[in-house]
Parts: sequence; C-alpha cells; structure tokens
Amino acid sequence: TGAMAVSLTACGGGGAGGGAGGGAGDGEEGGLVGVAMPTETYERWIADGDAVKTGLEEAGYEVDLQFAGDNIPTQQQQIDAMINKGAEALIIASIDGTALGSQLEAAAAADIPVISYDRLIRDSENVDFYVTFDNYEVGVQQGTSLLTGLGILDENGEEAADASEGPFNVELFAGSPDDNNAGFFFDGAMSVLQPYIDDETLVVPSGQTDFGTVAIQRWEQERAQSRMEDLLTSTYTKGDVNVDGVLAPADVISRGIITALQNSGYGKGDLAMPVITGQDAEAASAKLIVDGDQYSTIFKDTRLLAEQAVTAATAYLEGNEPEANDTETYDNGPIVVPSYLLPTVIVTADNLQAELVDSGYLTEEEVASGQ
Ligand code: BGC
Repeated sequence: TGAMAVSLTACGGGGAGGGAGGGAGDGEEGGLVGVAMPTETYERWIADGDAVKTGLEEAGYEVDLQFAGDNIPTQQQQIDAMINKGAEALIIASIDGTALGSQLEAAAAADIPVISYDRLIRDSENVDFYVTFDNYEVGVQQGTSLLTGLGILDENGEEAADASEGPFNVELFAGSPDDNNAGFFFDGAMSVLQPYIDDETLVVPSGQTDFGTVAIQRWEQERAQSRMEDLLTSTYTKGDVNVDGVLAPADVISRGIITALQNSGYGKGDLAMPVITGQDAEAASAKLIVDGDQYSTIFKDTRLLAEQAVTAATAYLEGNEPEANDTETYDNGPIVVPSYLLPTVIVTADNLQAELVDSGYLTEEEVASGQ
C-alpha cells in the first residue's frame, strides 16, 4: 500500500496549489489536521489513510492519523484527543455514523471544520462537508455486474440478445447497518435486481431479501462466511439446489462467502463457483478475480478520494469553502451535507489489468500474490 501513497504524489496529489509544495512534512507553515480512519483490518482504509496523510503533508500540514480497530469508543477518544491537541480540521471516516455527536459538538465549539470521509456522519449538524463516491451508483453497478455475470445482461448493461432465461438462484448480502453507505449500496443494487426477482428470472431460495436480514454487522468477513455457511446448510442441500449468484457489497464480505462456498465443494468438479460481486478492488480480491473465484469488484480510486479530502481541508484552512458537486443527496438527519461525489468503475477479469494495474493502483505483484 505504500506504493499507492507514492502514486498519489506522482498524480499531482493534494491539489493544494504550488505554494505549499516545498514544505513537505515539516508541518511548520500549516496547522495540525486530524485524520480518523475506522480500521486497519481492510486494505482499503490503510490505503485511504496513507494517501490522505501524504497529501496533507505535501500541502504543508502536520497530520495525526489514527485507526480505531473498528471500536466505537476508541474512535471517539481519538477524535477527542485530536481536538485537545489543537487540530485545525478533522477528516473522519466513521465506524458508527451516528455515534460522534458529542465529538462534533466539541469541534464546532472550537470552530474546527469537519469533513466526513467516504461514510456520512449522521444525526449531527456539525458536519461541514462530505467527500465520497456515488454510493447509490456503486450499488447499481454491483447489481448490473451480477446480471452480466449470469448472462442476463451483455457487457454494455443491455438485455443480452441470447439472454439466459434462468431461473437463477441468488443470495443477497448487505453491509453494516450503522454505515450510511450500506443502505445506498443495497438500494442501488436492488433497483436493478428487483424487476428480475419479480419476473422470477432470479429466485432467492432462502427467502431472505430485506436489508435488516441480509446485513453484515461491521462488514466482518467471518460473519459473512458464517451466514453463507448457514444458507448452504439450511437451503442448499447437496446436488439439489445450487447457488448461481451472490450479491456481495464489499470484497471483504465476498472473501468470506467464497471461503464458505469452497469449503462446501464449489469451484471443484462440476460445481462451478457462483457469480460473486464485490467492492474496493482489494489486492486479495483482484487475485480471486484473476483466478476466476470472484466475478467482479467496484473500483473506487481511493487516491482521488484522498485528494478531494485534502482539497476540502485546504480550502477551509485557507478560509474558503470547498466546492460541492452534490447538494441534495446526503441528508444526515438535521442537515443536507454538501458533498463531492466521485465516479466508480465495474472491474472484471476483462478490464482488471487496464483499470487497476495500468493505472498504478495495484502492482502486478500485488495482484499475483493477493497482498
Ligand atoms: C465503504 C466501502 C467498504 C466498506 C467496508 C464502506 O463504507 O464505502 O468501500 O467496502 O465500508 O469497509
């Protein structure tokens, strides 16, 4: 992941303008910026943390980067500590989007701008700006790629001329219910899948289709694996009904699902791996895609997201307002938070090399080794 941070620099990085260029890392001219990330368990957040830190340092700021091990009190304490240390701006990817109210009140009282990073912080009016990807569209892309993988749609997302009629057995997974993104991903995916469930091209043999039932708390790989194991033993008795597709909202969840399927014989002999989606273009999943065990992922270029976060923080620190490209979508309860949304790309074995390797996001070695 070090390589990703380096590529951010190579791509022109923080967007903070030329003036601060010489001050990399000395933190003399800029103030302190607190960067709170949820966990180091996933590749994606390590990459995000590295890229934001590098970008801010290049712009001349000092950075306090913390990971919270997916523990809510730890994240609260880390943010309190950043405020006490005199942070002049905060960039926060929350664990539970509703659990930071008192931290943000303290930030507002001290006039510290708060940038919500990737995940919307909810139930607080003290969120100044939101940098993220188009989360609903991520879900649409996941649903679309599931249909493409099953041969229902062609590679342009159109009804395939020689469309397989099914019915196909699919199971649905969603992300963590306390993460505002999880609902957007699921709703986006279901907007594409529901018509095919209604006309019975797709069948969900477990009958589990509502968000609350299929959601995986804290996006945990083990929980996803154990839900898939439960589905296999309760619904798919050997040779009887097979799984043809799985909507998985993130690579880490896809990997849990793949382990459960492989342990029960999928991917061997006549029992093909189902079409499985994902998200984040993590190296471990890029390898699974090349190996044919996972069908797709959604590439969210965290270098660009980090760059937007740095641009927004720099704007505030220089006394300006960052520029939003969406001021309608992200209602966090008390307010609609001005947002900057980035686009995302469906990646399958066909375009993985071009999108992930040629763009410098992953190296050949990372894809080959899965690390
Ligand atoms: C992010 C995803 C990520 C998930 C689990 C979500 O908030 O948007 O990219 O897969 O969290 O870490």
